[in-house]
Amino acid sequence: MEIQHNAFAKIIDNIHDGLYIVDKNRVITYWNKAAERITGFSAAEVTGHSCSENILTHIDSEGNSLCTGMCPLAETMADGIMRETEVYLHHKNGQRVPVSVRVTPLTDISGQVVGGIELFTDISSKSANVLKIKELEKLALLDHLTKLANRACVERELTGRLEEFCRYGNPFGIFLMDIDHFKNVNDTYGHDVGDLVLKFVAETFTANSRAFDLYGRWGGEEFIAVIRNITPEAHSKLGDRIRMLIENAYIIHDGKKLHVTISMGATIILKQDTMDSLVKRADTLLYQSKAEGRNRMTYG
Ligand code: GH3
Ligand code: MG
Ligand code: MG
Repeated sequence: MEIQHNAFAKIIDNIHDGLYIVDKNRVITYWNKAAERITGFSAAEVTGHSCSENILTHIDSEGNSLCTGMCPLAETMADGIMRETEVYLHHKNGQRVPVSVRVTPLTDISGQVVGGIELFTDISSKSANVLKIKELEKLALLDHLTKLANRACVERELTGRLEEFCRYGNPFGIFLMDIDHFKNVNDTYGHDVGDLVLKFVAETFTANSRAFDLYGRWGGEEFIAVIRNITPEAHSKLGDRIRMLIENAYIIHDGKKLHVTISMGATIILKQDTMDSLVKRADTLLYQSKAEGRNRMTYG
C-alpha cells in the first residue's frame, strides 16, 4: 500500500494532540490545528519564529522558565533521546495551561539530528469545564466576565461543604485571593485591559483546577477557591503553585508583557468554624500577605 505524502500531513493536522516541528535553531516550521486550539496562536502567527519568542514560554511546576535555557526539545535535539514531561504553556489570551509534552528528535537519512517534534496534550479537563460553565449559567450562578462561579454559588458550595464536614468529617480548605495593585492596571491601561487581566487570571484557575475544586469570583478583583479532601501540606503546596502560575501568566500589550500577581490567604476548616469565621480567617491571612509585600500566600 502506498500512502501519499500529503495524506500524512492531513492526519497530523487532524490529530487531537498539539504538534509542532522546529528546525535545529528551534524555529517553528510546522504547527497543527490542535496546537492552534490549545494555545490560541495560529500557524501563521508562529511559523518562522523561535518558540521562545513570547510564544509558548514553557515553565515547569516550580516556575522555572524552560525556553531561555535548555527546554526538553533542545535537550532532545542535543542528545537524541525522547523525553516526556509536564509543563505549563502560555496561551495567547494570557492564561497558563498545563500540558503533557513528548519530544522526539527529527533526523535525516544519515541519522543527523535536523530538528525536533513536540507533541502536547491539554491536561486541563477542558470539556468538563465547559459543561460546568453551562450548568452554572442555567442556574444563574455564573460570573459572566470571568466564567467562574459567582459569589452566591461559592456561598452555596461553602454551606454544602460545611454540612458535609459536620456530618462526615470531610475536610476542605479555601484560598482567598486578591490581585495586587489592580487599580494601577486600570489606571494605566484602561478598564477593558483590566477585564482581560481578570479573564486570564480566572482562566489560569480553571485550567489548573481538579474536578471537585470550585474557583469563584468573590468581588471585583477578589477570588475564592474551595478545595475538597485535601491535607494542609497539599493545600499549601497547591496555593503556592497557583500563585506562581498567576505570576507567570501574561498578555502582550503594546509589544510588552503585562502581568499581575496575587496575594493569598489559605486556611483549612476547623471544628468550630462557620462560613463567616472561615472566610474571616482567610481574609486576615490575605491582609497579612499584602502587608508583608504581596505576591505571597500566608497559611494559617
Ligand atoms: P491591593 O494590592 O491593595 O489589592 O491594591 P488594588 O489596587 O488591587 O486594590 P483596590 O481595591 O484599590 O483596587 C481594586 C480595583 O479593582 C478597583 C476597581 O476599579 C477594580 N475592579 C473591580 N472590578 C473590576 C472589573 O470588573 N473590571 C475592571 N477592569 N476592574 C475592576
Ligand atoms: Mg480587593
Ligand atoms: Mg487588589
